Amino acid sequence: MFENKSIVETRYIFVTGGVVSSLGKGIISSSIARLLLSRGFKVTIQKFDPYLNIDPGTLNPYEHGECYVTVDGHEADLDLGHYERFTNIKTTRANNITTGRVYQSVIDKERRGDYLGKTVQIIPHITDEIKRNVKLLGSTGEFDFVITEIGGTVGDIESLPFLEAVRQLRWELGNKCICIHLTYVPFIHAAKELKTKPTQHSVKQLQQVGIQPDVLVLRTEHDIPASMRHKVAQFCNVSPDAVIQSIDAPSIYEVPLMMLDQHLDTIILEKTGTPHRGEPDLSKWNEFLDKMHNATNEIRIGLVGKYVALQDAYKSIDEALFQAATYNDRKVKITYINSERLTDANVEELLSPHDGVVIAPGFGQRGTEGKFVALKWCRENDIPTFGICLGMQSMVIEYARNVMGMADANSVELNPTTSHNVIDLMEEQKSITNMGGTMRLGAYACQLRDGTKVANAYGTLNIEERHRHRFELNEEYRSQFEAAGMMCVGENPQTHLVEVVEVPSKRWYIGTQYHPEYSSTVLNPHPLFMDFIRAAIAYQKSKQADE
Ligand code: GLN
Repeated sequence: MFENKSIVETRYIFVTGGVVSSLGKGIISSSIARLLLSRGFKVTIQKFDPYLNIDPGTLNPYEHGECYVTVDGHEADLDLGHYERFTNIKTTRANNITTGRVYQSVIDKERRGDYLGKTVQIIPHITDEIKRNVKLLGSTGEFDFVITEIGGTVGDIESLPFLEAVRQLRWELGNKCICIHLTYVPFIHAAKELKTKPTQHSVKQLQQVGIQPDVLVLRTEHDIPASMRHKVAQFCNVSPDAVIQSIDAPSIYEVPLMMLDQHLDTIILEKTGTPHRGEPDLSKWNEFLDKMHNATNEIRIGLVGKYVALQDAYKSIDEALFQAATYNDRKVKITYINSERLTDANVEELLSPHDGVVIAPGFGQRGTEGKFVALKWCRENDIPTFGICLGMQSMVIEYARNVMGMADANSVELNPTTSHNVIDLMEEQKSITNMGGTMRLGAYACQLRDGTKVANAYGTLNIEERHRHRFELNEEYRSQFEAAGMMCVGENPQTHLVEVVEVPSKRWYIGTQYHPEYSSTVLNPHPLFMDFIRAAIAYQKSKQADE
């Protein structure tokens, strides 16, 4: 029931944030995109990050959470993962720009002489480059709405060029452009009161740089009374219906509905002069939410990795597990297990409560011996086990060591002098010295072997998945692994690089060199995660039957 035909002129929605960081601008942007898409509009979202790194690929997850990867091989901010999970639309490198990239492009132009002898300055050259990037997606004619999320918080020095670009665009684009500002309304426990002063100050800061927000979204832990919203509207020059609250929700996937209840979609459409009819069709989204609400039985998954102290380090894996569990009518309980602390003495105690174990991706030696301990225990106890990237490489190493008798088997990433380099640096990587953006990145084809668990899970033999790695299963050992029962059941059709290993004698023991988690969305849960959860449910049932 898509009533809305595509509109001729692209509309631009800017989402800024104030008061504090981590308010969930990415979730609000994604929710707006979901609502507009569900009305039949074509929408894309982009994120502008004010840091100087060219991309987040070189950042430690502790700095900025998970690094997400787009199909075209861009290492991106994790918000792009939210965008894809909410919209079901693949992002590309054009959807994530950093200050570093803006400066790099301006400096490259300066070196080429493109500025014809002019002094190159933040205004207009950096701001023009930002504006060019904002409009790049709109100029394709593909989208009715381009949503641009400005990273950071209003008032940060580093955000200023982005805000100046937004200010200029608002003048250029008139009502084809609106600004949504997300702030925080704290609840002061001692006074038992919600406080709107930080919001007022934040809007003032925005006004000082020349931007009048059209819509305010107030993050809050408690319901904000209508009278208080009116007060905010009055102080901030915003119409009262455009002061929206975003109260803490049990799941981020409820946020689009909370925004719909307060008519954020129609407010946006009206303020941008966009003709519209009817209501968004959220039937599929609601089916997912119904399953989420109705699921009572729990499935317990242990996630073994070294970045366990940080909530966002394995964001896409968490969400892929959650989506697959929901579609299998289960509530998922994910426990992070620090691989640095795992030993033969505690592995049983730490892993046995789980119905399935995921061995996480990662880089570097720290925490890898614990992954091998976990894998030995999972394999010997026949627990459904899913190894992703370094997790898959760890499966290969543990198998070589403990099944095939190569005691010092390793990856050359972890031990460059191993005599059994079962995981080796890819040939194309050997000449690379620059670390930024030089891994094997993005989507590559993979051919699956017929009749295998992994092929059955996908229901097809030809797939495409996203990658982020430098090392691979060493071709020289491939036949030895197959002879010992670890099958190389997926490979790249051009290079024959091993993409998937599977031990068919086990319940579910599968490792992927690629990252399936990046392509799992609310409307399209990933088939391999779905199959893993099914295997975990079957294993849970078999344990219960034994009791
Ligand atoms: N460090 C490994 C490699 O570069 C695995 C990477 C990953 O887990 N993403 O090949």
